[in-house]
Amino acid sequence: MDYEIDLKKIKAIAESDEEENWDFRSYLKFHDMPDDELDELVSQLNESVEEAIDCTKCANCCKKIPPDLRKDDIRRISKHLKVSEAVFSETYLKRSEEGENIINVLPCPFLDQNKCSIYDIRPETCRSYPHLDKPDFRSRLTEVVRNCSLCPIVFNVYEELKGIIRDDDMMEDQSLDDDLLW
Ligand code: SF4
Ligand code: SF4
Repeated sequence: MDYEIDLKKIKAIAESDEEENWDFRSYLKFHDMPDDELDELVSQLNESVEEAIDCTKCANCCKKIPPDLRKDDIRRISKHLKVSEAVFSETYLKRSEEGENIINVLPCPFLDQNKCSIYDIRPETCRSYPHLDKPDFRSRLTEVVRNCSLCPIVFNVYEELKGIIRDDDMMEDQSLDDDLLW
């Protein structure tokens, strides 16, 4: 399967398809596919797209999205850097509008030549980004649409999903029409 990996093209397509992506979000929100089935489908698509994409050639999330750090992250990373939690927080963090402790500058200061310099102890949110393998995908659709222009994995999974769900629904509609004709 060929996936789009060019960040400029992805941004341009996602921006020009923005209305369609929000419409599909609403469509999916109230679609009759059960949550666990949707999660399984997204997980399979995610696996296939992740295999085809080299995050070290991209690193766009580390350049564009400031991660929020939990207490455990702050404790672990400051210990690794051999600084107090207070010094770490003062140096690297700021409060977001939502009251989270987020990295205070972009690209992330721990990004070094497109690789995470604290990879083994990186924040939990970085570990799970782009969060497509978590349960209840349907509840995170707003975040997914917002991430389409930033993350090639999200972009390609969402594009695939649009195709699959619409094809299935069109086939269902067609078979209903055929039944009516009989
Ligand atoms: S998770 Fe997405 S944005 Fe981040 S490096 Fe991988 S492909 Fe790029
Ligand atoms: S901590 Fe590492 S993985 Fe997380 S944003 Fe910074 S460079 Fe990227």
